[in-house]
Amino acid sequence: MQNFLHYLTFPYLLQGCVTALGLLFGALVGGLLIGFVLALGADARWIWLRYPVRAYIYVIRGTPQLLQLILLFNVLPQAGLTLSPFVSALLALTINETAFCAEIIRGGIRSVNRDQRIAAQAFGFSALTELCYVVVPQGLRAIIPALGNEAVGLLKSTSLASVVGVSELTLRSQTIVSQNFEFLPVLLASGVMYIVLSAGIAGVQNWCERSIGTGRRLRRKHAATPIADDAGPLERMAPHRSDATPGVPQLDIDAVRVRYGNRDVLKDVSLSVAPGEVVALLGKSGSGKSTLLKTILALNPVESGAIRIESRSLTATPSGAPMPRRRLPKARADARIGMVFQNFALFDHLSAVDNAASIPLRVQNVPYGEALRRARIALVKVGLKDFADHMPHELSGGQQQRVGIARALASDPRVILLDEPTSALDPELVGEVDETIRRLAQTGITMLLSTHDVNFAASVADRVVFLHDGRIIEQGTPDILRAPSTPEFAAFLRHPDDDAQPLRAASPEPKPFVLPAGLEPTR
Ligand code: ADP
Repeated sequence: MQNFLHYLTFPYLLQGCVTALGLLFGALVGGLLIGFVLALGADARWIWLRYPVRAYIYVIRGTPQLLQLILLFNVLPQAGLTLSPFVSALLALTINETAFCAEIIRGGIRSVNRDQRIAAQAFGFSALTELCYVVVPQGLRAIIPALGNEAVGLLKSTSLASVVGVSELTLRSQTIVSQNFEFLPVLLASGVMYIVLSAGIAGVQNWCERSIGTGRRLRRKHAATPIADDAGPLERMAPHRSDATPGVPQLDIDAVRVRYGNRDVLKDVSLSVAPGEVVALLGKSGSGKSTLLKTILALNPVESGAIRIESRSLTATPSGAPMPRRRLPKARADARIGMVFQNFALFDHLSAVDNAASIPLRVQNVPYGEALRRARIALVKVGLKDFADHMPHELSGGQQQRVGIARALASDPRVILLDEPTSALDPELVGEVDETIRRLAQTGITMLLSTHDVNFAASVADRVVFLHDGRIIEQGTPDILRAPSTPEFAAFLRHPDDDAQPLRAASPEPKPFVLPAGLEPTR
């Protein structure tokens, strides 16, 4: 026991620990930095980058680390590059780490909810902003545990450096026992040192898991600044003042065609929405409502046709050429289209107020304080003043969707698009969101919303548009809900929620839709 304690504090062995730590730290940092770039390359759009990167990862992962180390140590001097044993070992360990870290990081990036990435793109986040503020903070939650594991494995692999003569902990233990044959106390002390170093790694991992990607830090920051009730009710919210020429529609969709594969999903759709107008898109599931809204945000390529927001095109450059992909984030940011998604697509790692502030802050370059002020006002508007610091998972579905609406409002949008905003909600939560949208509609903001709910459309919209099989086949004031002129619309009104219901054959006299009492059009 005495010998064991002696070796546990033996400076010669402790120096070996320091060497092992140096190898661990150097290889991990190098592996992470290069691995991050490789992870992006391995999933890049361009095959000339993707395949070579994947081949590199495949080869490095597939060959023994010891082989790589010996190869490097012997081959480099032949090429005229003589490195010290420590640097050779560090280089070999780093190369090996790049491949493993790349796969860990790639897994983390892929674990980020796709809807949130689509939302970030729709709001005009650049690829880099999306990566830094949406993907990395959330990906880290999946990356950190795997990386902790990798770091412990790497710590043990530092002992391989002894084969090229690096005097690290294992080699030093061997040297001592080869002289005094005190196997048990020396190797036990060495083992305990490795365990202590591993415990240090576990400690760092725990700290990172608790504090990164959970939104806690931001939440603490905001806790000191309560939301002032300076926003007033939703009805008093000033709608965005159009800077377009009077008479120009706020949203103008002109003969748009969209294809998925070899199937036409939108067929020459034309629709103009005037400033302050609220238009409800009705249509059964699969009729193309979501596709139309995504196309307005340039999330789908159009085959032909044009889309303009207050004369700004998202489909073409001012010279008439198709909008290049790299210019889309700026075009989207300039268009200022607020979007509310069916499945909320809130950023999971941000509190309600940070979600609402995300577009002014990350897309519109509004200073932090002003972005927070706008976000707080928007949260008051949707009745969530007391929930600003709640994380999305701490809110009900209805509250999450209201945060989604606040996020759209805080961006000072020219037009708000809502894609079936209540279809993912339990029936008892639909009312609060419907009510919020109804009140929003009365503020004079321009809105295009898709819905299955005929009663809701009747109560909120100035105009109802019926989409069937990718075409607008009927539109008009909500009165057309009482007297549909096409058999398809009449059939939809009889079974608006029955997605599985095949369209019935044209009925000579469609039964008019009767609005329940109290749900007369309000506008
Ligand atoms: P809605 O919103 O009216 O329910 P969608 O716009 O979501 O309808 O879909 C219209 C049609 O396009 C559907 O038949 C759907 O299966 C198809 N579709 C939607 N998204 C894609 C996609 N990414 N790839 C291929 N087909 C798609």
